[in-house]
Amino acid sequence: MDLDVALNSKQAPAARAEELRLALERAAYEYYVLDTPSLSDDVYDSLLSELKDIETAHPELITASSPTQRVGSTPSDAFSSVEHAARMYSLDNAMNLEELDAWFDRIELATGSSQLNYNCELKIDGSSIALRYEYGELVRAATRGDGRMGEDITANVRTVRDIPLRLQPGLLASLPQLEVRGEIYLPKAHFEQLNAQADEAGEKPFANPRNAAAGSLRQKDPAVTATRELASFIYAPADTTHEDLPPTQHGFLDALRQAGFHVNPDVEVLSRAEVHDFCKAAMEKRHDLPYEIDGVVVKVDAFAVQEALGYTAKAPRWAIAFKFPPEEKTTILREIRIQVGRTGTLTPVAEFDPALVAGSTIARATLHNEDEIARKGILIGDTVIVRKAGDVIPEVVGAVESLRDGSEVAFHMPTHCPSCGTAVHRDEDEAALRCENINCEAQRAERLRHWVSRGAADIEGLGTETINALISVGLVCNVADFYTLSFEQLRDLPLGRTKMDGTEVTFGEVMAAKVLATIEDSKKRPFPRLLFGLGIRHVGATVSELLTDNFGTLENLMAASEEDLNAIDGVGPQIVRSLHTFFSVSENRLVLQRLVEANLNFVAEISPSTVEQTLAGLTFVLTGSLANLTRVEAAAELKKLGAKVTGSVSKKTSYVVAGEDAGSKYDKAVSLGVPVLDESELQRIIETGNLA
Ligand code: AMP
Ligand code: ZN
Repeated sequence: MDLDVALNSKQAPAARAEELRLALERAAYEYYVLDTPSLSDDVYDSLLSELKDIETAHPELITASSPTQRVGSTPSDAFSSVEHAARMYSLDNAMNLEELDAWFDRIELATGSSQLNYNCELKIDGSSIALRYEYGELVRAATRGDGRMGEDITANVRTVRDIPLRLQPGLLASLPQLEVRGEIYLPKAHFEQLNAQADEAGEKPFANPRNAAAGSLRQKDPAVTATRELASFIYAPADTTHEDLPPTQHGFLDALRQAGFHVNPDVEVLSRAEVHDFCKAAMEKRHDLPYEIDGVVVKVDAFAVQEALGYTAKAPRWAIAFKFPPEEKTTILREIRIQVGRTGTLTPVAEFDPALVAGSTIARATLHNEDEIARKGILIGDTVIVRKAGDVIPEVVGAVESLRDGSEVAFHMPTHCPSCGTAVHRDEDEAALRCENINCEAQRAERLRHWVSRGAADIEGLGTETINALISVGLVCNVADFYTLSFEQLRDLPLGRTKMDGTEVTFGEVMAAKVLATIEDSKKRPFPRLLFGLGIRHVGATVSELLTDNFGTLENLMAASEEDLNAIDGVGPQIVRSLHTFFSVSENRLVLQRLVEANLNFVAEISPSTVEQTLAGLTFVLTGSLANLTRVEAAAELKKLGAKVTGSVSKKTSYVVAGEDAGSKYDKAVSLGVPVLDESELQRIIETGNLA
């Protein structure tokens, strides 16, 4: 180790150590303050470790402000009290723009000037800090305490990486004594991490980043503080009358920057008229910042004017904190209504008295499911706390239980679909309830669109607009209705648009004839595709194929017992339940009956066995999308050659064919060591009929 140091250094250890310190300080300054790092993290670490090595070999060279000394000061039992050089004041608040204007009026009245400059800064939501430097070296850091006396937390503050232990050469570094104030905060990301860790360890999480920052700073052991990823923004001198200092707040911020402090970049010197816009802009970017802010601090820029305005008992007259409007509001939960989604999911939606939250009015919010409502402890009639999650989506946070009067009632999910009245089912693996009625009004458009899609009945010419038109005139409610449409009905179907001359656009003769022909054709689509088209949950293209292969006809499938179904490789209990549910709904059976009567092809093709069964005994699983053929087509080709095609990967699977965007089945194949083929290899097998 000593040898390495000797090789690296051009000079004597003392000079080298000092050079390393300067470089590391400079790098930290560039990284934290200038935002233009010139050293990579690795290089920084490497220099730091070289410095550590020198200091280990020559302990007499260690300086108190060395970058290696951030952690390691002895933990103090209790923090000792220190007196602040000048009182640390609180700030008066303006709760809205009118109150801010009233403050401007007072300032203008007191100074007799309407031409003042105001320095606008973000109000960082952290823990205030006072830092004392002597000839540029950090000698003490203290909390605000009661404003006159604070606690000495120097050892902990030294671990905050963007607080310079020694200042960059210049005005501030040359002062025999300098005290600056600022805020130490915990970035949002680290706050979440910290709380996740606390959660895992079964400890109480911090309420907010501000508490987390304060708590981290008051750790007995600085090594713990050092793990907390705290950061700082420094924004003020303790003594604005110091004759060597710049005469304005914005000038002082520049000096702080040059000295190596981390100064928030979002500061602007503005006229009174411009301050509102700064406040609004801050409000808007609030959630995009990596740290919490709770307002804007507006300060009279000139120190001389600040001094003339002076202080009240609690706060400076020359500054005001504009507080952001609340982002959580309370309101009354009037009702929980059930919404049936396009795919049949029942979702409870809270309906509450309109509340103005973060700039817009909200009156309803999804509650997701019954478990969620129970978890939040919400009763109908409750005074609830609402907010906008991620700043857009309304959310009910919880209830104010102390405001209950006994009239509140618990909510329960209905047993029947509010849209069609069918008994609803709970998927065991999900919290959601669903309606599985093929005839359900709420799901109509989605189910009809699925039926006409390419992998299903494949009815070209029936786009979303036409389907919506058919639904709105009441011609089509479920998939069976497609097969009773007449030429006239289709031809005269109004599409809900008008021509230039004001007459209604209808589907027309040409399209009607074309679509009727494809509807007729669709009766002859292969059975697996028609089964897939019914939109039975968990019954996708591959599973449909498996089912039709094994049962041959719709009649057999509907009559299949649970054991029959479970016996099929690739059909799990989820699918069995889902089939059972679907066939148990009487509306569904009625629709199936009508489809059978319309002569739809609910019989599986008997595969011609003239082809040599070169893939007999092999099991394939198809996943992802293929470019040149559908999975159903691919499966048919493989089966012609005698292969079995199943829906899930197991140790018994011979090959997995992975197309574009293959997901978990691919991963499973890899983890089980099942060979994976791509589309071109599949093509070759289909063409040659051979594996090799
Ligand atoms: P409050 O604690 O709500 O009365 O607000 C006053 C506190 O805001 C001060 O003690 C500071 O710790 C803090 N603060 C955050 N950012 C700033 C800033 N840019 N200028 C002045 N004070 C700030
Ligand atoms: Zn329904």
